[in-house]
Amino acid sequence: MTVLRFIFGDQLSMDLPSLKTTSSSDLVFMTEVNQEATHIKHHKKKLVFIFSCMRHFANALQKKKLNVEYSYLTDSHNQGSFKAECRRIISKHNIRKIILTEPSEYRVLEDVLTWETEFEIPVEVLEDTRFLCSKSRFKKWANGKKQLRMEFFYREMRKEYDILMENDKPVGNEWNFDSQNRQSAPENLKIPQCHHVKEDDITIHVKDMVNDYFSDHFGDTEPFFYAVTRSDALICLKDFITTRLAHYGTYQDAMIEDEPFMFHALISLYLNCGLLGPMECILAAQEAYYQKKAPLNSVEGFIRQVLGWREYIRGIYWLKMPDYKEENALDASRPLPSFFWSGETAMNCLNVAINQTKKNAYAHHIQRLMVLGNFSLLAGLDPHAVNEWYHIVYADAYEWVELPNVSGMVLFADGGVVASKPYAASGSYIKKMSNYCKNCAYSPDKKIGKGACPFNYLYWNFFLVNYNKLKSNPRLGMAYRTLNGFDDDKKLAIQEQASEFVNYFDKGVNHD
Ligand SMILES: Cc1cc2nc3c(=O)[nH]c(=O)nc-3n(C[C@H](O)[C@H](O)[C@H](O)COP(=O)(O)OP(=O)(O)OC[C@H]3O[C@@H](n4cnc5c(N)ncnc54)[C@H](O)[C@@H]3O)c2cc1C
Ligand code: SF4
Repeated sequence: MTVLRFIFGDQLSMDLPSLKTTSSSDLVFMTEVNQEATHIKHHKKKLVFIFSCMRHFANALQKKKLNVEYSYLTDSHNQGSFKAECRRIISKHNIRKIILTEPSEYRVLEDVLTWETEFEIPVEVLEDTRFLCSKSRFKKWANGKKQLRMEFFYREMRKEYDILMENDKPVGNEWNFDSQNRQSAPENLKIPQCHHVKEDDITIHVKDMVNDYFSDHFGDTEPFFYAVTRSDALICLKDFITTRLAHYGTYQDAMIEDEPFMFHALISLYLNCGLLGPMECILAAQEAYYQKKAPLNSVEGFIRQVLGWREYIRGIYWLKMPDYKEENALDASRPLPSFFWSGETAMNCLNVAINQTKKNAYAHHIQRLMVLGNFSLLAGLDPHAVNEWYHIVYADAYEWVELPNVSGMVLFADGGVVASKPYAASGSYIKKMSNYCKNCAYSPDKKIGKGACPFNYLYWNFFLVNYNKLKSNPRLGMAYRTLNGFDDDKKLAIQEQASEFVNYFDKGVNHD
């Protein structure tokens, strides 16, 4: 009996459950399908990255003497979707059973669950054990809780995996050192360049293909310096641990115009497609702490992202889907401004973040949250449009991780499942945490009137627009007390300027 082992493009790990028991008579099948590349128009660099990683992974499987069939996007026989490709392979090789690891996206899982009936052969779907918290473990944690706060989930994970623990207590006697992780960057701060991997012939070939077939997709393919193999991804991880982790915590929230990566790890794309595993990243950081190569605020800060946020976000996705995708608690409906694609806006912070995204298929967390996300929240952008944008533009974006970050953390569209209050901020925050405002047409210190930073009046307008929905949120008491102190003329001026501003981009025109 020939068993088909179907591997998705974000399952590029040798320890994948569906690969573990492979025998020499089994067929491992990987396919590049047009449907997945185009159901949303992924960033060109993201496509180069995934297709190149897939091709390298198929080669690595072949080196292990596995029987691999690989279907290229340009093959004339390629049927263009997972299901149609599976059907083709089943009849070509007389397949009697399919084994796969559960896909990471709800839509694909739903499709896979129809295969058994449709193909009339057994389809075994294995749990994805590459995550540190299983779906059922998360459900158990969430069960009966009124609020699902990440911080408490994270503490359980720390205890469960014995990470940064000493005698059942957190190392340093605190669970969280976030208060030390909010410094802006001094002017002369030296930031080491992250490791650049030299592209090989496979990547060059994929790049040509992507430029030919997906030329109308957002983003640049050049320069390409991401790892596409596990061994290079491990070098990138090591590079982060040895050159950037020590300052990761202190400058975690800082933004500098010409420094897209700051001290961030730049590993999410490798984690999410399977080239790296979360525990090896956590242990590498923990070891750096015990070897006194990085301070606790940095190491704990990094571990909280991987062991806490990443697992928590995945847990929320599977707990709340499919309804989560439709949530829009603030009834936001404004279309995405065209400058999210062109990068052409006089707001320098957005200009920088969008153009870096276009170039690198990457923006670091604070750019995603406090610049792009904050703007999307304050301007009342439609959650569907914002989710699609984030899903398209980042090389690490898969629905399971993008959706709760956007609908939960950024837009408050889930009504407070992920965040206890909207992460709304005025221009003062961006001024404090970055050097963007120095080169901006607007003034962050001007609250209203000509030349005022749009974040300033959009901020108060947001609280006015959502008055009835948010005024009783205990964490927004201070904001509403301040707002209630504004006289009617001030409120009217804020609303008028905000509406004039958004009308510009509604019409596809810049506000300059
Ligand atoms: C609006 C928005 C959208 C996002 N979309 C994605 C996405 O599509 N894919 C994605 O992997 N991350 C997403 N994130 C989380 C985070 O911004 C990225 O993981 C991070 O910027 C990746 O860069 P890095 O590897 O340098 O991360 P670092 O800052 O160095 O953090 C280390 C690792 O922690 C994990 N991590 C940190 N924060 C989060 C988080 N909030 N959720 C999940 N994992 C986290 C990532 O695996 C990351 O690689 C999003 C955040 C926001 C606010
Ligand atoms: S002034 Fe306002 S729009 Fe300009 S960079 Fe600063 S925060 Fe952004």
